[in-house]
Amino acid sequence: MKIRDIRLGMLSVPLKTPFKTAMRTVKEIEDVVVMVETDTGNIGYGSAPATAVITGDTHGSIIEAISKLMSPALLGRNIGDLNSLINIVQNSIVRNFSAKAAMEIAIYDLYGQLYDAPLYQLLGGGDNVITTDITISVDSIDKMVEDTLSAIDQGFETLKIKVGKDPDVDIERIKAIYTAVNGRALIRLDANQGWTPKQTVSIMRILENSGVQLELLEQPVRGDDTEGMKYVTERINTPVMADESSFGPKEAIDLIRMRAADIINIKLMKAGGISNAIKMADIAGLYGVNCMIGCMLESSIGVAAAAHLAVAKSSVITKVDLDAPALGKYDPVTSGVIFNNSEIRITDLPGLGISKVDNLTMLDI
Ligand code: MG
Repeated sequence: MKIRDIRLGMLSVPLKTPFKTAMRTVKEIEDVVVMVETDTGNIGYGSAPATAVITGDTHGSIIEAISKLMSPALLGRNIGDLNSLINIVQNSIVRNFSAKAAMEIAIYDLYGQLYDAPLYQLLGGGDNVITTDITISVDSIDKMVEDTLSAIDQGFETLKIKVGKDPDVDIERIKAIYTAVNGRALIRLDANQGWTPKQTVSIMRILENSGVQLELLEQPVRGDDTEGMKYVTERINTPVMADESSFGPKEAIDLIRMRAADIINIKLMKAGGISNAIKMADIAGLYGVNCMIGCMLESSIGVAAAAHLAVAKSSVITKVDLDAPALGKYDPVTSGVIFNNSEIRITDLPGLGISKVDNLTMLDI
């Protein structure tokens, strides 16, 4: 199975409600989709969103990195030579993690098709059903409580609450949601870098002392402030998870060895694809540290790949935050991964099992 052509398209999906964090507001999912065509007629799909304030990747940079640097080096190569293809992708350009992730996802999709097995089987196998949380965007207290109750009605048992705005209002938000949930769901907080280390410790002490029980606190301080993460982790009882502080395997090693976080959030778009995400899970496993698998606001192509990885590495990836497909008004992607609110189920289809992507606008590159 040889790579014959690499094409690009754009895919957008409107959201049910705007996605609001301490960093940004987004109204629709918009991904660059990469299609790797082979001489056997098989097509591998990958995708990446622009997340300028998180990874620095834009649609333009993703398109350029793939079309100008990766594609010329990959054309004519054999899909069976997986490791050498991964090396080409990873060495084609520094950083540009989301472009690398999109290309790797398409290559791994084809690798699964080559051996006629779903990707998670080739990554080691596992139980093909996982359960995701859902994000509650940061908003007025009333709106957040309303969204929380609606998520519980839809069967979600874990909620990821976005905070990180004004500390005093955040405390009121969390208390109101905790009371409304009344033990019916587990609550994770994601402050998206919105607090300082000292603010975080003071907020969490108030919450912990008032009896609010939280599963974890995600990325309270700036991503580049590893010392700040360590400061918080040492001082609060609630487990701290690194998201924007944790990009690839090297950051995972540093965070774990410094004890700057209790949990590592792995996202394909930050790690630069599946190969580095595997390394991160294995590193965390070595140290007995658990991971979350997360995603950006992105199409279900990339999220499907993340689900395969989560199943294969479930002994380490014990927390799943793959709710992007549940936030879209519809899902234009038909794949081997079935997203049904909190339940994510992987079928036996080879690779990622993608048979159809509706509403794709092809790029003339
Ligand atoms: Mg996060």
